Amino acid sequence: MNQFLSRRNFILIPIMSILKIIFKPVQVLASSLSSKEEWNLSKDEWKSRLSPESYYILREEGTERAFSSQLNNEKRKGVFHCAGCDLPLFLSDKKYDSGTGWPSFWDSIQGSVETKVDFKLIVPRTEYHCSRCGGHQGHVFNDGPLPTGKRYCNNGLALRFVPE
Ligand SMILES: [Zn+2]
Repeated sequence: MNQFLSRRNFILIPIMSILKIIFKPVQVLASSLSSKEEWNLSKDEWKSRLSPESYYILREEGTERAFSSQLNNEKRKGVFHCAGCDLPLFLSDKKYDSGTGWPSFWDSIQGSVETKVDFKLIVPRTEYHCSRCGGHQGHVFNDGPLPTGKRYCNNGLALRFVPE
């Protein structure tokens, strides 16, 4: 564990200046998190905002069919936003092909997602959702690539891609 952490720091420290640039917008977002209550919408309000498919994913913790999302093959530079409230969640340079059939990322934008453990498949899994509107995005696993070792397995229907 210590070895993993020090290796991670070894990688992270030299690129700290790059990270500072990437994470700069997060400070703005962090302050806008106080408007979280604005996103405490009723079921009907969500239904009028979202397609039935996105409602099922975001508000009922559904899972889309593997390989069904065009975003699975999205390779352009840009930002993946929450389809519920438009909060930026993932940067395209953290996206990779996990082979699972769902858009996968090895890191999220700092502070953009929160996690909880669910037992839907009996075996506990770590669910994650948008930190602003609470919309379900996917599950995060520990079999992703370095430097984080994480795999954010995301539903394409829960995302909106904004190319650069
Ligand atoms: Zn959201």
